[in-house]
Order: sequence, then structure tokens, then C-alpha cells
Amino acid sequence: MTTTQHQEQRTDDELRSLAEQAGRDLEDASALEILQWTAATFGKRFCVTSSMEDAVVAHLASRAMPGVDVVFLDTGYHFPETIGTRDAVEAVMNVNVLTLTPRQTVAEQDAEYGPRLHDRDPDLCCKLRKVTPLEEGLAPYAAWATGLRRDDSPTRANTPVVGWDEKRRKVKVSPIARWTQEDVDAYVAEHGVLTNPLLMDGYGSVGCAPCTRRLLEGEDARAGRWAGNAKTECGIHG
Ligand code: SF4
Repeated sequence: MTTTQHQEQRTDDELRSLAEQAGRDLEDASALEILQWTAATFGKRFCVTSSMEDAVVAHLASRAMPGVDVVFLDTGYHFPETIGTRDAVEAVMNVNVLTLTPRQTVAEQDAEYGPRLHDRDPDLCCKLRKVTPLEEGLAPYAAWATGLRRDDSPTRANTPVVGWDEKRRKVKVSPIARWTQEDVDAYVAEHGVLTNPLLMDGYGSVGCAPCTRRLLEGEDARAGRWAGNAKTECGIHG
């Protein structure tokens, strides 16, 4: 029996214990070591999610498991630069990019809920265009990796490197949780990793166009997301 077959027979409680133990054991491990553990433990039942802000975690994961699935949510509201980054990642990296789309197009959503739902009820818009499609897209996997970092924002300060995602009942891996922006920049420079061109154009974090603006002097990287609104997370991670 392979390790992966063995994992498929584990119950949610066993997977939760496995994740919590791995979170403790791998706290000081490198990002690559964390992803090597993930690949060895879950095999093809592991994917990376990417917003195409950069391809750092996808690059790391492709070193741990060449051809790894990279899941991208196309909300219909992305900047052209984000779609271009997705296309470039697909073209040059040893990964399998899977693009998820919401059940409704933007036009269909506008017809049912009225235009610019993102201005009136961003939580509902994110649920329809991000949270639900991701939940459906992650169904085949037992574990998913994200690019969350503890220094992104106060709400992410306690992110474990491996944890249990109670909402989706999956193992959630954040291999660069302990990294700083300097670590990311150094990895990008060393490996020539693709990044979204908007990061060179005043944006600190890149999400949907209607809900993302350039940073002002001294703001933290995610301050340009849902600016003017108390919302700080789309519901995928918070
Ligand atoms: Fe809608 Fe904005 Fe959420 Fe994108 S980030 S799904 S446009 S509310």
C-alpha cells in the first residue's frame, strides 16, 4: 500500500491529528521540506491554490512534485495582468493549471442580484465568485497549499505551516507562512519566478479589479484590498 492510498483511508479526525502534528513537527522546516512532506503524504490528492499575485508557492510545489495541480479562481473580475500571469505560469512552469469559474458569469450575476454587487454586498459577491467555486474545486483533494504569510496582516499572524481547515475538512498547508517579503523577493530573484506586473505598479496585493487599489505610503501590503470597507478577507481564509 502506498502512502497516498493509506491517507485516502484516513478519517477526518485522523487527518486533523496528522495536520496538527505536522504543523508542530514542520514549524522550523524549510518551505520546500514542508511541500515535500505534503507531496509524499498526499500525492495527487494535493493541490496549490494561486491568486496569480506571484508563482512562488507554485514554483516551490513544482520542485516537490513536478506537474502539481495549481488551482486558479477566475472570478470574472481579474485584471488582465492577472490572467496574463496565469497564462505565463501555465506556459513555462512544470505545473498543471486548473481554472475554476463561478456558476454564473458576471452578466448573469448582475441580472439576478443587480450590477456592482461587490460595492453593495462584497461578502455575498465573494461567496458566489470565490468561496463556493473553491469549495467545489477542492473536493477531489485531501490537502491544499496556499501562499498565506504571517506578516500579511494581523489576522494571519498565527497561520500554521500545516493545519486543519475545519470549514472544508482538508489539510491546509502554508509553506511560506514564516517568510517575510524579503524572503519572497529573494526567492523570486534567485529562481526567476513569475510575478504579477501590478506588483511593480504600486499594488501590494492583487485581487479582483473592483476591490483592489494601489497602496498609499506606509500601508501594509493588503491595505489596498476592499479599501474603505471593514472586510479584510474574501472568506476563503478567514
Ligand atoms: Fe466580488 Fe470583489 Fe470579492 Fe472579487 S473581491 S469576488 S469583485 S467582492
